[in-house]
Amino acid sequence: MATSSAGERGHRDRAFAPQDVPPETGDGIDWLCGIPFLAVHAACLAVVWTGVSPIALAVGAVTLLTRMFGLTAGYHRYFCHRTFRTTRAFQFVLAWLGASAAQMGPLWWAGHHRSHHRHSDTGDDVHSPSAQGFLTAHFGWILSRANQRTKTEWVPDLLRFPELRWLDCNHYLAPLALGAALFALGEWLGAARPELGTDGAQLVVVALFWSTTALYHLTFAVNSLAHRYGSRRYDTGDDSRNLWWLALITAGEGWHNNHHRYPTSERQGFYWWECDLTHYGIVVLSWLGIVWDVRGPAPTVLVEGAGRPSRTHRAPSRPAWR
Ligand SMILES: [Zn+2]
Ligand SMILES: [Zn+2]
Repeated sequence: MATSSAGERGHRDRAFAPQDVPPETGDGIDWLCGIPFLAVHAACLAVVWTGVSPIALAVGAVTLLTRMFGLTAGYHRYFCHRTFRTTRAFQFVLAWLGASAAQMGPLWWAGHHRSHHRHSDTGDDVHSPSAQGFLTAHFGWILSRANQRTKTEWVPDLLRFPELRWLDCNHYLAPLALGAALFALGEWLGAARPELGTDGAQLVVVALFWSTTALYHLTFAVNSLAHRYGSRRYDTGDDSRNLWWLALITAGEGWHNNHHRYPTSERQGFYWWECDLTHYGIVVLSWLGIVWDVRGPAPTVLVEGAGRPSRTHRAPSRPAWR
């Protein structure tokens, strides 16, 4: 795989750009596909019947953090950008963890994200706040009929794994299996430890629906907020920003201007003070020998960034809904 050269000033990750494929833009809302997405949000309100308990919140924190790692380390840094290597078995573990966040399959996610890097903040970027409007960038694009298809032309390297193709077609099995496991755990806890005040339905609402909804908007915020608000260290030619508080709550994904400057770095917090929880997790996995060949930013990119302190940009004067 080609990587950005150390001295390259451009931002586009051309390594996976397919040839002669016209870009697609959103065209019409597919309400049928939008029903599960909207239903997950609505199901959060079922807490008025199930109630909430400390144990449900604790289990919800675990399901949120592990699935976030599946998205950030797995879907994004491994499948999209191939920033480290691992075994085929652990590759599937990452794919399953990411799929359990109910954000479609790994090939769908990677295809759209590679296209985003190629077309960032142009009219061909389906989730650019400047090109498509803020709400479309945040979540409207996933309801678009044009964006339901897996962009297989962007992921030829991933297509050769039949288990990934299978999971991409059957991605809904991962969140369903998680829901079944949480229900069983809640029923068991309710019977074995009634003083905890939980049951199967409560764990499904809190640890599945609440955490899945939170994961949706944390992921989407990287596309919307981190392309509009924050500071720019690098002139990447797009609107990507570093947004420190978003980086804290998205396990490092908020260092988005860094990421657009050098997408093939596993580390998105380029300097020691840029907290990147996903990076720390990958370091631990590398110590255990589960992942290897972890790529960092090119030294020249670090030197370039160190000499150019982040500049804060005011939000553009567009209306907030665009
Ligand atoms: Zn971006
Ligand atoms: Zn990326």
